[in-house]
Amino acid sequence: MRILLLGKNGQVGWELQRSLAPLGHVIALDREGLTPQQATHLPAWQGLPLLDQPLCGDLTDLAGLARTVHALRPHVIVNAAAYTAVDKAESDVALARRINDEAPGVLAQAAHAVGAWLVHYSTDYVFNGSGHTPWQEGDATGPLNAYGLTKLEGEQRILQAGRQHLILRTSWVYAARGGNFAKTMLRLARERERLTVIADQFGAPTGAELIADVTAHCIRHLLHTGEGQGTYHLAAAGETTWHGYANHVIAQARRLRPEADWTVQDVAPVPTSAFPTSARRPHNSRLNTTLLQATFGLHLPPWQQGVDRLLAEIL
Ligand code: NDP
Repeated sequence: MRILLLGKNGQVGWELQRSLAPLGHVIALDREGLTPQQATHLPAWQGLPLLDQPLCGDLTDLAGLARTVHALRPHVIVNAAAYTAVDKAESDVALARRINDEAPGVLAQAAHAVGAWLVHYSTDYVFNGSGHTPWQEGDATGPLNAYGLTKLEGEQRILQAGRQHLILRTSWVYAARGGNFAKTMLRLARERERLTVIADQFGAPTGAELIADVTAHCIRHLLHTGEGQGTYHLAAAGETTWHGYANHVIAQARRLRPEADWTVQDVAPVPTSAFPTSARRPHNSRLNTTLLQATFGLHLPPWQQGVDRLLAEIL
């Protein structure tokens, strides 16, 4: 089996390189792509025609993406690439739309043409953040910012283009690789005595490892049963605020490394309005994951489990 992975160096993409490997031949691309020579030397290329053009992993190159899918004829395409700079997207909508909306549409059309499954990621930011209950897949969408809007448009393009798709909406992603909230808190806890952290946004920090492992599990299920296509919510269990998340990270860090020079004395809760940003953020990022767990026979662990593992790894 051939799996085309796009966005191989992102938080989720990096973990997918590991979790997809036991399923088949993974052709993992970043925006640089692969030359014909590099591509045809891959074990995955055996039996495929010679290439005269590069494999394209750049989501702004729509023709290149379509050409790549047709040349490779993968059984599964996993798109972990996205425009994820939430604030920047407000003033850079055209590029965000190209990457988050048009490119997934092209991938979905090409997947349909070659009979491949398309696995794609989306976000709780497709919702407007109102209320206190976890969002269900069928709830009305209403993005508050350009990033959320372009991600929603990408979902819609995929739905229009074909039937063999899996869209996984997730939230508050972190990984050992790359920058993220937990790492920022660890740094600030050594630099400052007092931190102020937002306490009126609710969600579940979700590890890229978990997302990648669940993705591999779902792909196995899709391929073996031919069933399960659709849109699902994927997040770790439980909920917290950024303030609760920060407190957990710092307390756990102190337990793991009591000898380290932790300067922070006080982590104060503040409202969202204390940190003005160009993009509005939802207050309610809770995702109801019942459908995913029931359909694929999965158990999603509490968010603290993955965060503790991250801290044990990086501290
Ligand atoms: P990252 O920002 O870590 O990774 C995104 C990847 O996309 C990067 O490797 C980036 O490459 C790549 N990329 C950006 N532009 C292009 C392009 N033009 N062509 C090819 N690749 C490109 O994101 P995550 O791993 O955190 O996110 C994975 C998915 O989860 C995305 O769909 C995202 O929308 C969704 N999501 C993420 C959340 C989060 O908190 N991070 C929350 C909810 C959903 P480069 O490194 O070269 O810039």
